Amino acid sequence: MNIQENISLKPYNTFGIDVKARFFVEVQSLLQLQKVLELTAYPNRFFLGGGSNMLLTQDIDALVILLNLKGIAVVEEKEDHVWVEAKAGENWHDFVRWCLERDYGGLENLSLIPGNVGTAPIQNIGAYGVELKDVFAHCNAMEIATTEMFEFDKEFCQFGYRDSIFKTKAKGKYVITSVVFKLTAKNHSVNTGYGAIEKKLIEDGIVHPTIQDVSRAVIAIRESKLPNPKVIGNSGSFFKNPIVTLKLFNKQLNRFGEVWRCEGL
Ligand SMILES: Cc1cc2nc3c(=O)[nH]c(=O)nc-3n(C[C@H](O)[C@H](O)[C@H](O)COP(=O)(O)OP(=O)(O)OC[C@H]3O[C@@H](n4cnc5c(N)ncnc54)[C@H](O)[C@@H]3O)c2cc1C
Repeated sequence: MNIQENISLKPYNTFGIDVKARFFVEVQSLLQLQKVLELTAYPNRFFLGGGSNMLLTQDIDALVILLNLKGIAVVEEKEDHVWVEAKAGENWHDFVRWCLERDYGGLENLSLIPGNVGTAPIQNIGAYGVELKDVFAHCNAMEIATTEMFEFDKEFCQFGYRDSIFKTKAKGKYVITSVVFKLTAKNHSVNTGYGAIEKKLIEDGIVHPTIQDVSRAVIAIRESKLPNPKVIGNSGSFFKNPIVTLKLFNKQLNRFGEVWRCEGL
């Protein structure tokens, strides 16, 4: 385990902000994570995934722990579904691509979201009418105080709109080490009703879209709308969509003629 000092975090955050970590360590296994958490010399810790949901404004006087646990594996298969486990340090979009290459369905609308798999449950990442909770089976997490491992199901996680228990009651208590997803192995049901997906598919002359077609459409739409963090530093949206009553929604619909909505998220 190599604990380094005064390391620039510029390569590790999508804003590309050049602040320094007083101490820095990369962990690649559960054992390394456990050992790092047991080090009493570094009581202040800061966990880092893909660095795409943080705005670093000053040097970090703590041990910055880069979570780089890797690995993707099918853990269970049934006729129509497959359960896939991805370790926390896997890049989210690379994981989505891995699933699409094997024709596993459910993640296609979540294509090209920056960040890592282990962070995805924290805000229940979502885009284009799908949220992580729709494909979430369970996650594994290490309790920071004890290094004990836990398995958390959907009910425990209390997913909401860009929300979960990891932002409320369980905030700062656990490191998510892997996530297990329940995906379709066949008879995929594609979700094209949100945003401009349908329009893009029609433009491309696609009548019966596959999950790969939906992913390509989502990628094209995202690339046309959002700056690539590698070119212009950013961390995506700074807003949440408002949650409104049906009455207010209808009022806005009358006013603007067209309003995008997602029911019951
Ligand atoms: C261009 C752009 C577009 C985006 N679009 C979307 C979108 O469409 N939908 C959406 O939902 N989000 C979007 N985001 C936000 C971002 O992709 C998500 O919040 C993502 O889940 C962040 O992952 P990360 O690994 O980069 O997190 P980080 O920024 O590394 O970490 C975020 C927080 O989680 C903590 N953390 C990191 N890993 C773990 C772990 N394993 N266990 C416990 N705590 C941990 C960190 O300490 C930190 O507090 C976008 C961001 C960008 C830059």
